[in-house]
Amino acid sequence: MKWIWGQGIDDFELMTNVSKKLRVKLKQDFQIIHPVVKHRKTSKDGTIKFLLSLADEMVIESVLIPSDNHYTQCISTQVGCSMGCRFCSTGIMGLERNLTSGEIAGQILAARSFLKQNNHPLPVNNLVLMGMGEPLANWTQVKKGLEVIRNPDALCFSRRKVTLSTVGVRGKLDDLGRSRLVLTALSLHAPHQELRKQLMPAAAKYNLGELIACLERYILAPRERITVEYVMLKGVNDSLSHAADLVRLLSRVKCKINLINFNPGQVTGFKPSEHEVIEAFQGYLRSRGFTVMLRKSMGSDIFAACGQLKTKIQDRQ
Ligand code: SAH
Ligand code: SF4
Repeated sequence: MKWIWGQGIDDFELMTNVSKKLRVKLKQDFQIIHPVVKHRKTSKDGTIKFLLSLADEMVIESVLIPSDNHYTQCISTQVGCSMGCRFCSTGIMGLERNLTSGEIAGQILAARSFLKQNNHPLPVNNLVLMGMGEPLANWTQVKKGLEVIRNPDALCFSRRKVTLSTVGVRGKLDDLGRSRLVLTALSLHAPHQELRKQLMPAAAKYNLGELIACLERYILAPRERITVEYVMLKGVNDSLSHAADLVRLLSRVKCKINLINFNPGQVTGFKPSEHEVIEAFQGYLRSRGFTVMLRKSMGSDIFAACGQLKTKIQDRQ
């Protein structure tokens, strides 16, 4: 745990506190393989997007988003995704396979070694599980990966520095809350079951009433909040009447709301909301006592939203 995950060492020979005999045996029987940077793009705003290739040549995305003194890394949990959200490039791709816990945590080692080789001074201090895939659809491996991410001998991230974003999967969402491993962000995107089902077919399996009830009984630390994510889609979910329904729906959930403007990429059929419309929506929610943030769109010049770079490159090939 200390050598591989704590130090990022991938040669058994260098693990000098392990007996010579065991090192020989390990070298014979095991290989240490991490995701490898296959393609990289840097945005004008400093966002770095990686395409990482896995041992079986499958490809996933991971993104480093800079702020003043650190990077936030966005990591993937599946190759593709089976949830089929209509506005998401990964959803349109469908699911190819689940990632293993090693591939999930290994994305951090890949990014760190890239930063080191290229003399980037900023550390990766924050993580978001918001790349390709639905983390709770691969919960067993994600949970194992998070244990490595949190382990002080391994990647050593504190709970407050890691956020898992999910559409909500029955049973798994409760388990995520109980695990206390990381913070939770819930992709809501609609204040009613009907509209949510249209935008996110997977919502049909988990009624909004049950989902909200689960969030209401979530055990949170004193000042902790669930992040509710809401992608703003022009003329679809961005009216003040949607905002009013959202206020009612979330009245008993301890949350803050994160509005994300739609990033079109190659997705057709939706448009981003107008700036004034977002301001009005945000203003309404704030007037009802909610903390609301507008998520900055980073790296749009390099197709940095969920699934976009992979789609773009496959199209080109
Ligand atoms: N599967 C998880 C995590 C990955 S997606 C989930 O859906 O929560 C991370 C976030 O990006 C989600 O809130 C998702 O709705 C949002 N997203 C997906 N495609 C988008 C797009 N084209 N523009 C803006 N946000 C998008
Ligand atoms: Fe999957 Fe999340 Fe994209 Fe929906 S938004 S298809 S759950 S990755």
